[in-house]
Amino acid sequence: MELENAKTIIKKAAEKLNLSQEKLNIILNTERETKVNFPVKMDDDSTKIFTGYRIQHNSLLGPYKGGIRYHPQVDLNEVSALATWMTIKTATVGLPLGGGKGGVICNPKELSDKELENITRAFIKKITPVIGPQQDIPAPDVYTNAKIMDIIVDEYSKQTSTPIEEARAVVTGKSIENGGSLGRDTATARGGQFVLQKAIEQTQIISTLKNATIIIQGIGNAGSNFAKLISEDNSKIIAISDSKNAIYNQEGLDIKSVLEHKKQNGNLQDIPNTTTITNQELLELECDILVPAALANQITEKNAEQIKAKIILELANGPTTPEADKILESKNILILPDILANAGGVTVSYYEWYQNINKESWTAEEVDKKLKEKMFNATQEILNKKTKHQTSTRIAAYINAIERLAQKIN
Ligand code: GLU
Repeated sequence: MELENAKTIIKKAAEKLNLSQEKLNIILNTERETKVNFPVKMDDDSTKIFTGYRIQHNSLLGPYKGGIRYHPQVDLNEVSALATWMTIKTATVGLPLGGGKGGVICNPKELSDKELENITRAFIKKITPVIGPQQDIPAPDVYTNAKIMDIIVDEYSKQTSTPIEEARAVVTGKSIENGGSLGRDTATARGGQFVLQKAIEQTQIISTLKNATIIIQGIGNAGSNFAKLISEDNSKIIAISDSKNAIYNQEGLDIKSVLEHKKQNGNLQDIPNTTTITNQELLELECDILVPAALANQITEKNAEQIKAKIILELANGPTTPEADKILESKNILILPDILANAGGVTVSYYEWYQNINKESWTAEEVDKKLKEKMFNATQEILNKKTKHQTSTRIAAYINAIERLAQKIN
C-alpha cells in the first residue's frame, strides 16, 4: 500500500512537469532489492532465523542513503516505499545523495540488548557487500539508535578489514565518540521546527508559534525532541501519544515531566493532570498544528474529515494517504509533507558523513546554522513551486525533487 501511495504522488508531480514516460519509469523503479535471512543466537541459547531488507531505490544524485528500522511490521512493500521517499527527500532538499532503506522484522521491545546486537551484526554481515561509504550509507530509523549505528561501524570494519577510522563513514547517526555529528540526534525535530517557522512566516495561517496548540502523535526520537524544542518556543502541547497511550490536557502538558515519566516507566500511564484518550481522539482534537511522528498511514480517508488542525507537520514518513490528502486539501489544511518536514535528519546525516570523509568536526552552532539555512531555503523553494504550479505543498515538493532527478537522466 505504501509503495503505491509513493508512486501515485510521483506520477502526479511528473504529470505537472510533462515528464516523459521513460524518465518517469527510471524514477519509479528500484535499482536493487536485497533480502536476507540470517540466524541469530538468542539469550536462551536457541537460534532464530530473522529476515531483513536493504532496498536501494535510486542513485542518480549520489550514494544511497536512508535508515534501517527494526519493527515487527517491516515488509518489502513498506521498505520499498520508504526507500523511494528517501530518493525524493534527498532530492527535495538538494543533497548529493540517493535513496535507500533497510529493515529487519523483529520486535525490539521483546529483545535484550545482546540479542539486538546479535541481530545487527548478523544483518550487517549479510548486507556488507552492498553498503559502503561511497555506495550506501544507512542511518537510524524507527527503533534503531546511535548504539546500533556504532555496532554497524564495528561489524562493517571487521567484515571489510577496514580500520574503524575509515569504516565510520559507512553509517550516520553514530554516537559522538564514534564519529557522530553534534546535532544529529535532534536534527529531524529541529529541521521540522525550521520548516514550521518558515511556513508560518510565509503563509500566516497562524500568527505565531507562541501559544499555538500542538498535538504530537509518537514519542520516539522525532516526536520527543520536537516536543522538547517546541515547548521551549512556548507553544502549548495539548496531547501526545506513544504506541499504546495518548494523553491530553487542554491547558498544555508539562512536557518535561511527561518525557521524564516515559523515560522512567516506559509508558504514558497515570501521569498527573492528564486525561487518557484514544489515538483516534488525539488526531481529531481541535488544535493549530498536528504532528504525526510515528508510523505510516495514520491519516486516512476514514478520519481525514474529522481532522481539525490548521497545519500538519509530517515528522513521520508517509503518515497521510493520498485519499486523505484530497480531503485535507479541500478543508484548506496546510500539509508540510514528510519529504520536507522530516528531512532535517538526513540533512545532518549528510553533514556527519561529510565530516567523516573530510576528517572535520563541526560545532553544534555550525551544524544548526547550516541546517536552518537548508530547511528555510527548501521550504521557501517549495512554497514558491506551490504557487507557480497551483498545487499542494506535497506535489510542489515532489516537483522540486523530480526536476533535480530528471536533470541527471540523459
Ligand atoms: N531515517 C531517517 C529518515 O527517514 C534518516 C535517514 C538518514 O539519516 O539517512 O529520513
